[in-house]
Parts: sequence; structure tokens; C-alpha cells
Amino acid sequence: MTKATASVALFTADLRLHDNPVLRAALDSAHEVVPLFVLDTGVHAAGYDVPNRRAFLADCLRDLDAGLRERGGRLIVREGDVVREVCAAASECGARQVHMAGDVSLYAQRREERLRHALEADGRQLRVHDAVVTALPPGEVTPAGGDHFAVFTPYFRRWTSAGLRGVIRAPRTVRVPEDAASLPVPSREDTPGVSPGVAAGGESEGRARFAAWNGRPMKDYADRHDDLAADATSRLSPHLHFGTLSAVELVHRARRTGGDGAEAFVRQLAWRDFHHQVLAARPRASSGDYRPRGDRWRHDEDEIAAWRDGRTGYPLVDAAMRQLRHEGWMHNRARLLTASFLTKTLYVDWRVGARHFLDLLVDGDVANNQLNWQWVAGTGNDTRPNRVLNPLTQARRFDPDGTYVRRWLPELAELRGPSVHQPWKLPGRERARLDYPEPLVELSAGADRFLRARGLEGRST
Ligand code: FAD
Repeated sequence: MTKATASVALFTADLRLHDNPVLRAALDSAHEVVPLFVLDTGVHAAGYDVPNRRAFLADCLRDLDAGLRERGGRLIVREGDVVREVCAAASECGARQVHMAGDVSLYAQRREERLRHALEADGRQLRVHDAVVTALPPGEVTPAGGDHFAVFTPYFRRWTSAGLRGVIRAPRTVRVPEDAASLPVPSREDTPGVSPGVAAGGESEGRARFAAWNGRPMKDYADRHDDLAADATSRLSPHLHFGTLSAVELVHRARRTGGDGAEAFVRQLAWRDFHHQVLAARPRASSGDYRPRGDRWRHDEDEIAAWRDGRTGYPLVDAAMRQLRHEGWMHNRARLLTASFLTKTLYVDWRVGARHFLDLLVDGDVANNQLNWQWVAGTGNDTRPNRVLNPLTQARRFDPDGTYVRRWLPELAELRGPSVHQPWKLPGRERARLDYPEPLVELSAGADRFLRARGLEGRST
């Protein structure tokens, strides 16, 4: 096939040079490529453009620009409506094709539709590439008679035996049209209101993190991933969210490393794909119940504020909520507990919690966040939708000597050992010295209220 003069590679959730099918296809189809990122005002209007992710994104764009410059190119940055900006860029360089990654949210699906129509109306073509955002494309494996898997275990069986595409090398050179106009690449310093502990973004950072993880830490993952104080998970989620690391490449490399830890890590990557394939098939599950059950949620602003601020009086819940505010990240076990506390013990609508998480999480992701919230709330894919997590039981199992709580709650830092989990049991004078609230709700009363609302009796775990 003869090569076109130029094509556009639109970067979205694939801010990388390694293993990027979008960039590879654009380079193969034309002599010059416009590597384009649009600061999309639609994302801003939808409420997804928040300081913590914007700061991480700025790091990613700077690093991408640096990587392109090493290869003779540069990143082209525009701002505005994504469809208008892409069409303008394509028309300016005379590109016949625009390449981009397939993605699953309602917003991404509509963006793709709008872009396809606008480009075709202009005599150009949109080429959408699979297995860029996820390891396995959504819909690649389906159950008999269904368009997606609603239960993880059978999905995982099929996912494991499905073939993945091979890893694509980073390009050696990238030729960008000289006159392609770009805004300055944004920088983290331009973003006010960022949480102090937000990790650094960018492909170089992501690859360095994975290289450090792909050894002893990953080997220990199977045994230690739920230990809150050990902080023994990969922390790669922001890189997977922004696509500075490729899920396909991580699965291949972890499988090559092998062992129980690598297997457990790959299983988590399959969870990510699982939620993406659910959202691809049910895009409205980003805001509507996946399994509606007629909840009459409670809504008490003071209780919700106490949960958000980490002042519920349950130290493990509060430590996790403070970590979220400080780092824009939270351990999975802590996400499960804080979400169960809000949606079950307080019986507050999962959308309230999901919104707060999306406001702060650097990895905040429509598929993973909304569907994990639904999973915990019992309106999603959990096969045990009525279990209620008890913060004290969780503390005994996952923070037995209270180290995680002391790390995040300075007002309890003097309390030794597991006593930190139940400050209300301290002798009166000691208790009075602490600037820490009494429990917001009695745990069994909260769990009973939830279970009664579901027409059930049961116990929390
Ligand atoms: P690791 O344990 O090292 O796992 C490796 C990777 O697997 C993660 O980076 C992530 O991409 C994926 N993964 C792990 N667990 C899950 C899971 N349960 N579902 C989907 N993917 C998973 N993850 C997000 O990426 N974005 C979110 O917005 C998000 N919101 C969540 C909200 C709630 C209420 C809950 C319970 C979980 C949420 N998760 C979300 C999933 C999970 O908590 C995080 O992916 C994980 O804690 C990230 O840390 P890590 O990179 O160290 O994970």
C-alpha cells in the first residue's frame, strides 16, 4: 500500500511510546505523523478533569513530548472540543486517517461516534485499535448467549486461555510535520489544588516502577498484597489508567517472570479487563445500578462529611480516607472497607462515594471505580452482594498491630499496638486527651439496618 503524506495519532488513555498499536499504525500508514493530545473541554464539563489527575497527566504529556523529541518528533497539544480539534489537525496536515484507541465509557463511545461522523463527512477515516487500553479487547470472550460476563471466575478462565497480541516496540524515529501548531505542553506546576502526595506520572516513571516491581516485590505479592501497612501492591494503577504502561505488555512480562506472585498480579489485571468488558456492554452502569434493587438510600450530610474527612470514629476507615486525600490513592483493601462502610453500614448511595473517589483518585477510572463501587454496594457483580465488612474484623486481619492507622492518623500516633483500633475503649482520661471523634454509628446497628432494608438478617464479616 502506498503511504499517505501524513496521519494523526490521537493519544487518549495510551500515553506511551512502547507497545502502542495506535502510534504504530499511524506511523506505518504515512510518512509523517501528528502525535496529538487534546485537552478535552468535554472531559472537564463531565467533571472528570480534577487536580490530582491533571497533575499526573501533565507529567505524562511532558514525558511523552520528551520521548517523541528523542525520536525527532514532538507532541502536538490542543485544547477544546476533541472532535473539532482532531478534525482541524487532520485537515491542516492533510491526513486521510486518524488513529485512536477503542475505549469503553459512555463518553468514550460517544466521542468515537462523533469523531467518526465528523471525519467521514470531511472525506477522512477513523481507525480504532483494540487491546490498547485493556489486555483483552472487551467482547473478545463472551458467555454462551450473552454479550458480556457478569461473574469474574468464568470470565477469568476464558481470559486466561485467550491469546494476547504480541508486544510492539517503541518507534525509533517519528517525523512530525514542521508546521503543526501546538500549545505549550502543560506542567504540574500550573495545577492548583493537587494533593501533596500525588505520585509522579509519565511513561519513564511507569517503566521504572514496573522494573522495580518485577522481581522480589512481585514474588511476595500473593502473600502480602492485603497487608495494609506493608504497602506491598504495585501502585501501577495510575499508569494503567493513563496508559503510560500497557496492560498487554505487563501480562506478558509478568507471565515470563512466573510464580504465585506474578499469577496473582495477572489476575488483578484481569479484574481490570473484567470491569471494562462490563462497562463496554452496559455503559449506563457508570451512573445507573447494574442490578437495580429499589434501594431507599439514606442521605445525612453530616455523616457523609465525616466519612469524606476521615472522622467517622473508626480508625481504619478514617486512616484510609486520609490516605486518599493525601496521596490521591488508596490500597484496594482500604477501598473495599471504606466503600462498604459508606454503602452498607451508613447505607448511603454508592454514587456519593464513587464521586468523592473520582474527585481525588489519580487512577480514578469510570470502569474500575464505578463498577467496583457497585460491586461493594451489592448493586453490581459481587456474587455475595449482602456481605458487610466490619472495620474491627478487617483491622484484626489486615492491620493487626495498627501500623497503618498510626501512619495516617497523627492524633492516635501515641496509642500502642492494636488498641489504636478502638480508642473508645481507653480509660476516660486518656480518651478525653485525644482529638478524635466517637464512633458515628454502632457497627451492628448499621449492618442490621442495611440487612433489614434488603429484607434479610445476617452478620458482618
Ligand atoms: P495491584 O494490587 O498492584 O494490582 C495491579 C493492577 O490491577 C492495578 O494497578 C489495577 O489496574 C488492577 N486492579 C487491581 N485490583 C483491581 C480491581 N478490583 N478492579 C479493577 N482493577 C484492579 N482501580 C482503578 O484503577 N481505578 C479506580 O478508580 C478504582 N476505584 C476503585 C473503587 C473501589 C470502591 C474499589 C473497591 C476498588 C477500586 N479500584 C480502582 C481497584 C483497586 O482498588 C485498584 O486498582 C488498586 O488498589 C490499585 O493499586 P495497585 O496498582 O497497587 O494494585
